[in-house]
Amino acid sequence: MTKSTEIKSVVYTNKAKCRDCYRCVRVCPVNAIKMENGQAMVIPENCISCGTCIPECPQNAKTYVKNTDEVLDFLSERQQVIISVAPSFASVYNKWERKRLPSALRQAGFSLITETAIGAYEVALKTREIVENKPDSSHICTACPAVVNYIEKYSKKEIHFLTPVVSPMVAHARMLKKQYGAETKVVFVGPCVAKKSEALHPKHQNIVDAVVTFEELNEILKHKNEEVTVSIIRDGVPKQIKVKVPETGLLGIYPEGDMSKFFELKKIEYGFWESIPAGINKGVNTLSDYIKQFKLIFTPETKAYESLGGFITIGKIFPGVWDWQAFWTLTAFLSIILAFMNILPIPALDGGHVMFLLYEMVTGRKPGDKFLEYAQIVGLVLLFSLLLYANLNDVFRLFKD
Ligand code: SF4
Ligand code: SF4
Repeated sequence: MTKSTEIKSVVYTNKAKCRDCYRCVRVCPVNAIKMENGQAMVIPENCISCGTCIPECPQNAKTYVKNTDEVLDFLSERQQVIISVAPSFASVYNKWERKRLPSALRQAGFSLITETAIGAYEVALKTREIVENKPDSSHICTACPAVVNYIEKYSKKEIHFLTPVVSPMVAHARMLKKQYGAETKVVFVGPCVAKKSEALHPKHQNIVDAVVTFEELNEILKHKNEEVTVSIIRDGVPKQIKVKVPETGLLGIYPEGDMSKFFELKKIEYGFWESIPAGINKGVNTLSDYIKQFKLIFTPETKAYESLGGFITIGKIFPGVWDWQAFWTLTAFLSIILAFMNILPIPALDGGHVMFLLYEMVTGRKPGDKFLEYAQIVGLVLLFSLLLYANLNDVFRLFKD
């Protein structure tokens, strides 16, 4: 970021909202807030950007400089934009959101999603080296910019204890710029506002291009149930229209007509021998995608189990008009599914038989006939339940649609 001269302080007061209650004044650990004309004003030179006063304000008058517009500009300009995600994302998003975060970021336009932990690893190695070289001295790590700000402003005599190592955010951004080019935009997302002050520091100019909090990132990712203004070009004329974002937070668009206007399409012709490895690759990719989808059925928060379908769903995946390629592709796909299901260790399937055979090979004893009989029954009940559930889903969907 390069706006250090324009922005006086990362944390500031929205004057219109301040109700003169002094709560922020009381919690500020460094007395960086003064009352001026009945309003609590942050003193930029004193503020260490710790963010303590922000959640304390009952009027939401204490706020911080937002960088969402900057990031949206990078994305809309179709530049190469990389996002470095702080490890605390794990505490911000729930299990399912954590899994979807990379694809949501990709959809938002980020070209590479990577973790700041990569920079933290390098920083940790360097810090260990410094500590090992001076084991009798005290060391203060520089990962937290609020701590660094505090020492630089209020405890200058401790400055020499600060390890001469940049923070993980800066280290990672430098690595990314080195690898992908100086013109690449690097956006950092983390939980705290102090990182913004760190990126604005003159010694870190043009390293991190924008810092957003997870709160800001959520604004970038979705404006669900809100009306947003969308710029479009219709008949060559730029226009702005207002549209409401649905509950999902996603606005759908689709290109009309010739796809080659929007995408660079490439047709690859395979010879007979080339088609064999290409086919094997496709089969392996299809199987691994299917296994990933299969796992989602057992992740209730994804509601993937609601998409399970039976004979009607299978019928519907075939196109309405005859197409040889679609027919053989789908036939191969169904064969792969059947092969995978068949090797699952469920009694009554081949995978179940293999499981019992392996048991016999390892222990030298055959499972009892009664046991095998009951196992077959359990397996059959499982399979018929699955069959029934999938087909009932189809029937429910018929009524719902
Ligand atoms: S961010 Fe921290 S140092 Fe700055 S005014 Fe708020 S509480 Fe004080
Ligand atoms: S806590 Fe909020 S409302 Fe109260 S003085 Fe501070 S900025 Fe004003």
